[in-house]
Amino acid sequence: MTIRILNCAPMSPWLPRWHLGAPCLLVDTDRGLVLVDTGLGLHDYVTPAPMVRFFRLGFGIHDDPEHAAVRQLSRLGHGPEAARHIVMTHLHFDHAGGLPDFPHAQVHVHRREYEATLHPRSWIELGYDRSDFAHAPSWVLYDQPTEDWLGFQAIRLPFRPEVYLVPLFGHTRGHCGVAIQDGGAWVFQCADAIPTNAQFDLTPRWLNRLVIGPHVPKLRDWASRHPEVRLLAGHMRQSFFDAQGQPC
Ligand SMILES: [Zn+2]
Repeated sequence: MTIRILNCAPMSPWLPRWHLGAPCLLVDTDRGLVLVDTGLGLHDYVTPAPMVRFFRLGFGIHDDPEHAAVRQLSRLGHGPEAARHIVMTHLHFDHAGGLPDFPHAQVHVHRREYEATLHPRSWIELGYDRSDFAHAPSWVLYDQPTEDWLGFQAIRLPFRPEVYLVPLFGHTRGHCGVAIQDGGAWVFQCADAIPTNAQFDLTPRWLNRLVIGPHVPKLRDWASRHPEVRLLAGHMRQSFFDAQGQPC
C-alpha cells in the first residue's frame, strides 16, 4: 500500500512571500486508486471562473496546467479512469477544481458540504466554483458517524486500508479531515481546519476562528498525544513536497 503526495495547486503569495502547495493524496486501495482532494483542474487554467481568476492572482497560484492531478496521474502512467474514487475534505475551488477531469469517479463527501454548495450562506462559502460540479458528479454522501477513530467521531469509508471521514466543521459547513491507515501509523489530512504547514501557532487565534474554524486547540493537544499520526494541512510549504522525493 502506498500513499503518494501530489502538489496540485502550487502558489507563491506575495505577502508573506511563501512557496506553498496543496497536498492531494493518491492512495492504493482494494478498490483501486483513491484520490483525496483534487487541487485545481485543467479548466481552472484554461477557462477560469472570475472568482478563481481573482484568487489565482491574489495568491500567486502558478499558471501551469501540468500541476493538475489528471496530468500528474498521466505522468505516473494512469489515465483519468484509474481514479475511480475521490474523497473530498471540502469543496472549495482549490480542493475540488480537478473533479471535472475525473468525470467517472465516485465523489465521497459529507452531506453538509455538498448541501453548502447548493446554498452558500457565508463569505467563506463563496469559495465554491459551480463549474467544478457542472458535470454532475456521482456523489456518495455521508452524514452519520459510524465509529470512533482515535477519539474522534468518524465515518468509515468502504476502502482497505482503512479510510475515515472525520467531521471538522467550521472552515466550511461540512469540512472534514480524512484519515488513512498507513501500516501501523496514520496520515491525517486536516485540510483547512489547521494552519498552513500544520504549524499550530502560525496564525493568531482570531484569524483561526475567522477562517480555519474552532478545532485548532483540540487538534494541537490531540496531535501531541498521537505521534503515530502524521498531520497534513490543506496548504504545505514547498519544502514539504521537496522532502517527499516525488515529482510534482
Ligand atoms: Zn478551503
